[in-house]
Parts: sequence; structure tokens; C-alpha cells
Amino acid sequence: MIPGSQSLLAYESAIRLAAFGAVIAAMVLWELAAPKRRLSHGRGARWPGNLGVVILDTLIVRILFPTAAVGVALACEQRGWGLFNAVALPWGLATLASVVLLDLAIYLQHVLFHAVPALWRLHRMHHADLDIDVTTGVRFHPAEIVLSLLIKFAVIAVIGAPAAAVLIFEVLLNATSMFNHSNIAMPPAADRLVRLLVVTPDMHRVHHSILRRETNSNFGFNFPWWDRLFGTYRPEPAHGHQAMTIGIENFRDPSELRLDRMLLQPLRPEPDKTPMLRKEPRPASPSRGEDGRPRA
Ligand SMILES: [Zn+2]
Ligand SMILES: [Zn+2]
Repeated sequence: MIPGSQSLLAYESAIRLAAFGAVIAAMVLWELAAPKRRLSHGRGARWPGNLGVVILDTLIVRILFPTAAVGVALACEQRGWGLFNAVALPWGLATLASVVLLDLAIYLQHVLFHAVPALWRLHRMHHADLDIDVTTGVRFHPAEIVLSLLIKFAVIAVIGAPAAAVLIFEVLLNATSMFNHSNIAMPPAADRLVRLLVVTPDMHRVHHSILRRETNSNFGFNFPWWDRLFGTYRPEPAHGHQAMTIGIENFRDPSELRLDRMLLQPLRPEPDKTPMLRKEPRPASPSRGEDGRPRA
């Protein structure tokens, strides 16, 4: 164990909370100063649910897993479990490789949540937001959060990720998720440059499109490389960022934005298959839009 790594555990929640507070405040200010799209439902209708669920998620995770993912990494380190605890690599290299591998795992997990019907029931709540802004980046069902944390524990144990790498990854993932869900207008040249390294809001917004082929693209949260590598990259939405429809076909009533409705969504019937297993709707006709719904 590297000296001082136990103290990571003591400061883990404070570091994460401080980073969360700083990033959400910065993104809200950016959204107010330079918004990308006009929100169709406004903050008053969406924020209580989205912020309510992140508070609930945090409490549930703290109660169930008080030592969090960093604690799992420290336990594996002490027992010599996992690749990087068995193979002697320079600490910096093991940290960098762990962050990249954890991000690949999150990408694959996201694809899985779109492919398996029971998992889509949990993940679809993230997609049911009728607008997309910084708070969408923390809008995940508690069951999805717990399940993805268990998957993360397993990945940490297999790769033997250093505790610092786990903390860096968790702070990074939380920050980039809030960044790439933000309703901010970035100059196209800046977007192209940033998109080489980090998933940008214009890239992730495509994933929140109501069109299935767009929902099934741009699964990355941190690094944009996995989508390009595995052929799921889609640079722009077909209807453009202003005209595209955000959300999924079901749960379009504004009452679905309430916290209680959000929490019960996984129990409600799924009338259709998961986005990954669905066929594209019939080609657009004059009376039907590309999403298969009658045109207004
Ligand atoms: Zn998704
Ligand atoms: Zn998203």
C-alpha cells in the first residue's frame, strides 16, 4: 500500500462532495450565461425530482457501502488481489491504466443497460427526462446506482485498481457527467477540440434523442474513444440540436417528472422492447415523424 492511502478513505466523501458542489455550481452558471436550447419544461418542473433522486442515491450508497469503492480498492490492495496488485507497475502507470479500464467498463455497462430488458427498466428513468441539463447528469434510479456500484466493485477487484485511481475516476465521472449533460452552447471549434478527449454536451445529447438509432449511440461518459472504437459514435442528431426531441416515447407526461413517479418507473409496464432490441420504426411518411409518432 502506498503511504497515506488509508487517509484517502477519511477524505473520500468530502473530496467528492466538494467536487460535486463546485462542478454543479459552475455548470449552472454556464447554462444561465450561454444556454444551448430553450428548455421545454423548465427547471421548476424537473429539478426537484432530479435533485431529490441524487440526494436519495447518495444516502442509500452511504448506508449500504460506507467505505465506498475506494474502500474496496484498499481491501484488494491489502490482500494483493487483482492485476495491478499482482504485477509490479509504476504507480502512475497503474493509476492511469485503471482510470482508462474503469471507463471502458462503464461504457460496456451502459451498452448492457440498453440491451437487457430488466436493466433498461432501471436505466430508462435517466432517458425519461424531457429536457437535458446539468441535473440530468445525476438523474439515475437508486437501483441502477447500486447495481452499477456492485459492477464497479467487481471491476476494481479484477484489475486491482489503486485507491487513488478509483477516487480520481469517481470524481472525474461525476464531473464529466454533469458537464456533458449541461445545456451549454460551446463554440463548434471548441467542441471539436474537447471531443477528442472528453464527451461533450453536443455529443451526449444525441444519446438522449427520442430516435432509437440515436439513443443507441454515444454511450461514453468520460472518454469519447470507446464509441469510435466500437462503432457506436454518431456526431450529430439527424434533426439538429434545436429541433431534436429529448426523451423516450413512454413517460412523456410532465407528471412523470415527479420524484415518486420516477422511483416507481421500473415497476411500470414496458410496452415495447429495449431500445437496443427494437427495430427502427417505419420510414418517415408525410403523416408520421421519424420517431413513428403522428406529426403534430
Ligand atoms: Zn443510456
Ligand atoms: Zn445521459
